[in-house]
Amino acid sequence: MIDVNGVSVGYGDQKIVEDMNFHIDKGEFFGILGPNGSGKTTLLKAMTGLLPLMAGVITLKGRPLHQFSSRELATHVAVLPQISTEAFSYQVRETVMLGRYAHQKGFFKGTTDRDKEMVDKVMEQTGISSFQYRYLHELSGGERQRVFLAQALAQEPHLLLLDEPTNHLDLSYQKSLLDLIKNQTDQGTLTVVAIFHDLNLASLYCDRLLLLDQGTTKLLNHPEEVLKEEHIEEVYHTKVQKQAHPLVAKPQMVIVPEGSLTENLVLDERYMTLTEDCILYSAPFPLKCMSSGIIGAGIGWYSHFMNRRVPVDYDCRDYKQDMKEYLITKELDPSLSVGMMTALDLSNMICERFEMMGKSVFVIVTAGVGNAMDVSTSFQYDIDSKPGTINTWVFINGNLSDEAYIEALVTSTEAKVKALNDMEVRDKRNGNLATGTPTDSILIASSQKGEIEPFAGPITPIGKLIGKGVYEVTKKAIQRYMG
Ligand code: ADP
Repeated sequence: MIDVNGVSVGYGDQKIVEDMNFHIDKGEFFGILGPNGSGKTTLLKAMTGLLPLMAGVITLKGRPLHQFSSRELATHVAVLPQISTEAFSYQVRETVMLGRYAHQKGFFKGTTDRDKEMVDKVMEQTGISSFQYRYLHELSGGERQRVFLAQALAQEPHLLLLDEPTNHLDLSYQKSLLDLIKNQTDQGTLTVVAIFHDLNLASLYCDRLLLLDQGTTKLLNHPEEVLKEEHIEEVYHTKVQKQAHPLVAKPQMVIVPEGSLTENLVLDERYMTLTEDCILYSAPFPLKCMSSGIIGAGIGWYSHFMNRRVPVDYDCRDYKQDMKEYLITKELDPSLSVGMMTALDLSNMICERFEMMGKSVFVIVTAGVGNAMDVSTSFQYDIDSKPGTINTWVFINGNLSDEAYIEALVTSTEAKVKALNDMEVRDKRNGNLATGTPTDSILIASSQKGEIEPFAGPITPIGKLIGKGVYEVTKKAIQRYMG
């Protein structure tokens, strides 16, 4: 569709963008990223044919841009520039109709039925029909943005160039604008080149991203390759953290506010309360957790951790709802809580803090092992839900990577199994050494403060503490349970 070959461009004799080389395919959604002043707008202007090139050539469908007349170019390319704040004395509908100019033929260039249909269609698509007879200066920035997008779409372009298209739009219009044009690129009817400030939107919608750094190409690749912490930090000079989008396999980058990592309150027994009906750990700040709780499971940030004692014959169909209601009676917000259950007398709980080389973990275990089993033979039995479960909570004073969370889970599980073995806990069904119970639950909760811990296996100080801590606490909890 469009080829940029050896292009340098700038203003006067000052080169702003240097030696650009890329090809954009028909139907591609191509994003341009880079800090302020890195040359994004300058490059986009060059692609509209507005700026004379200092070197190289840009071809559209194989023909150099400068060979197109402006009217001819307008039948292929539409531009949505950054909207300036000057007063507009045009009506919305008139403004959109201007997009049809290049399609109007003959001496009088009258408006045809097709022009009117097209204008109605794009006004509908961009949600501006209801104010089509109002004047531009009466509209909000976001409404105006949509009017200019409608004008660009009315042009029926093959290539749409957008300079920060979502700048003035609220969340819902950002999504509908990008969905609308993404839909057209997916159908192959439109090719889009867009400048983005929002890395996360660029990641979600673009097929490829060009990352500019001081007028040169830093990277040109798929979002997963470009949106890596080290690349973004290098180019934007800002600390960022990458995370997975919860539903889409695309990276998302978040900034880390200054000062948020400096607070240093150690997670220990001070924040735990034990009563007859529950163990509650209320952390002084939200912890990043990975858990298999009844509520608050998976990965998330939570402040309250509840191990609720239920009767041996507890039988509740909607146990999640029941847990939420229970938390509310304790004046805890269920959305900030991880909840687990046990039938165990909670005086059997064991907790202990472990410290080494300036790192520490705090472990809480309730271990009812009356229903312990050997997991490798579990397929031979119908497992009933007799009470008896091991709930393992590991609070880590550290800053875990994703890998470290998973290794912390593995390390904790290995330590638990070792404790069961050393205590000779057996599966009553076959006499084998038990590896757990059918309903064990685990929580890894980390303060996420301090130096990043890339790993949490036993090769690391944190892993060693988890291994020792979970082993010792589980062993003591089993001892106490067994009397
Ligand atoms: P970006 O879009 O990445 O923020 P621009 O392409 O707008 O960057 O600007 C890159 C550099 O070019 C800036 O240093 C800016 O001052 C300069 N520049 C932009 N427009 C002009 C202009 N019309 N005349 C001279 N310099 C300009």
